[in-house]
Amino acid sequence: MEPKIIDGKAISAAVKEEVRAEVDRLKTAGREVTLAVVLVGDDPASAVYVRNKKKACEAVGIRSLSYEMPADTTQEKLLTCIAELNGRDDVDGILVQLPLPAGIDEQAVIRAIAPEKDVDGFHPVNVGLLAIGMPRVVSCTPAGVIEMLVRSGISIEGREALIIGRSNIVGKPLAHLMLQHNATVTVAHSRTADLPAVAKRADILVAAIGRPRMIGPEYVKEGAVVIDVGINRDTATGKLCGDVDYDAVAPHVSAITPVPGGVGPMTIAMLMKNCVELSKMR
Ligand code: NDP
Repeated sequence: MEPKIIDGKAISAAVKEEVRAEVDRLKTAGREVTLAVVLVGDDPASAVYVRNKKKACEAVGIRSLSYEMPADTTQEKLLTCIAELNGRDDVDGILVQLPLPAGIDEQAVIRAIAPEKDVDGFHPVNVGLLAIGMPRVVSCTPAGVIEMLVRSGISIEGREALIIGRSNIVGKPLAHLMLQHNATVTVAHSRTADLPAVAKRADILVAAIGRPRMIGPEYVKEGAVVIDVGINRDTATGKLCGDVDYDAVAPHVSAITPVPGGVGPMTIAMLMKNCVELSKMR
């Protein structure tokens, strides 16, 4: 069986194109969509993420403001910066790149961002709104997974969805979104007993684990849809790989996302989309 390869690059390009049109429309109406990006410290991976986010802003016409602070920045100073951005009328979205250096309380920082400017959807108010089925702004990676499925014409309603991983940024919000789309949802994690048996029931299997190529064919039902959120560095080759053993799994599925070129590009596209949505809500 030839699986459908879900092309995250193409789908994210379509999303960004729509965002660009919306940004232009708002500009004509006198509103410049603006994202403030805050980076603390010198973690090289974070620097790359921030650079990519700023590039994406540029591509869709969103103005980005950059705040780069040294690794020894105090929590107080960071909170002051956030308070100032909260108060600025010209700022629609605030993004603080995680992880933060040791000594800064990540949760305190997330809570300090005004919920109506929380472009990542991490604030407890936004998480709560999602949990009660009234999402306002949703964490970008899970939102991207749903967008990919919907735009690929894959139905979610009534199907068995398994999400492997229960993090606050991927697994848990995705479980809520899947519920909203009327899937029957199971969330698995490192303490799940007999994961292969649980996984074999899934019509839609999402891997958000962080373990290179852990998911082989023994986890996958014939004809399932497999979404690979994982972004890992293969220790042997140094190349990027997902949580799914793509070559071994692909022959058994109806649709699958590659890594790279799958969920990754969707995350940034949804960040841009969130930013515009926040601007429109204000
Ligand atoms: P976390 O480390 O926060 O969570 C990993 C989850 O996987 C945990 O719930 C953990 O269980 C579970 N897990 C770990 N080992 C196993 C196992 N052997 N069997 C079953 N479950 C297991 O990771 P994130 O959610 O932040 O990220 C997951 C992956 O997605 C990473 O590769 C990350 O790089 C990638 N990612 C990709 C993004 C993208 O844009 N495509 C965005 C964000 C993340 P437990 O809770 O019990 O510890």
